[in-house]
Amino acid sequence: KPLIELKNVSFQYENTHALNNISFKVDEGDFLAIIGPNGSGKSTLLKLILGLEKPTAGEIKLFGLASNQFRDRELIGYVSQKSNAFNSAFPATVEEVVKSGLVKKLGFFKQIPKDASKKAEEVLKAVGLENLAKRNIGQLSGGQQQRVFIARALIAEPKVLILDEPTVGIDHENVQSFYDMLARLNREQNQTIILVTHDVDTVSNRISHVACLNQTIHFHGYKEEFDT
Ligand code: ADP
Ligand code: ADP
Repeated sequence: KPLIELKNVSFQYENTHALNNISFKVDEGDFLAIIGPNGSGKSTLLKLILGLEKPTAGEIKLFGLASNQFRDRELIGYVSQKSNAFNSAFPATVEEVVKSGLVKKLGFFKQIPKDASKKAEEVLKAVGLENLAKRNIGQLSGGQQQRVFIARALIAEPKVLILDEPTVGIDHENVQSFYDMLARLNREQNQTIILVTHDVDTVSNRISHVACLNQTIHFHGYKEEFDT
């Protein structure tokens, strides 16, 4: 059963056709890249998957359920493009930021579980930051901060991890190792990943599928998906 399935999905803002007849599915263990130029509907597509908007036409299924029947939102982890800029504004250690990823899952007044530190250690290792747990997040580079927010999403054990342009603001020379880390997460932990990116060349040998949103989609309803 696919984890996420879109069937002939279209979305229209007042007078903009943002998405036109998009279909694809994401199976467990997939590493899907969603690519396309600015304005091609990538953010809109993520909003639909995250349940922030409803499709104008077509159907979205999450874990086999129609999107409006789906309740286990924590099964889908999301790291937004702006999370690093937002978070370095207040002081906290890397470990504290990562543990805060459990708060939503537990509910506000419940305790952080005893094994939270151990889990934080595990996910920090998975993103290659095991030595920086006690560091203040503001002292980290943009790329390291992005890894912290991925670890923060991973600690809640999402079945699908969605990343919106995670390499924006990362130094060019660190982008390769960032994608290597994601590929390792996908391969070694079977983490399903959906990645919105502009780095087509860099990700092409690391992903399993690609969905291309083209500018022409606004007018012609064009989409493709193919195995790499
Ligand atoms: P991308 O993320 O690929 O840059 P978006 O999903 O942000 O693309 O935008 C797709 C299209 O929808 C663009 O033409 C954009 O201007 C338009 N759009 C996005 N958000 C809104 C909105 N809230 N209201 C009206 N039009 C929007
Ligand atoms: P992103 O960088 O995440 O693609 P943008 O900078 O394109 O986002 O847009 C920022 C916000 O403005 C989003 O919430 C988007 O929905 C909204 N937006 C984008 N295009 C339009 C538009 N043409 N009309 C109204 N709102 C828009």
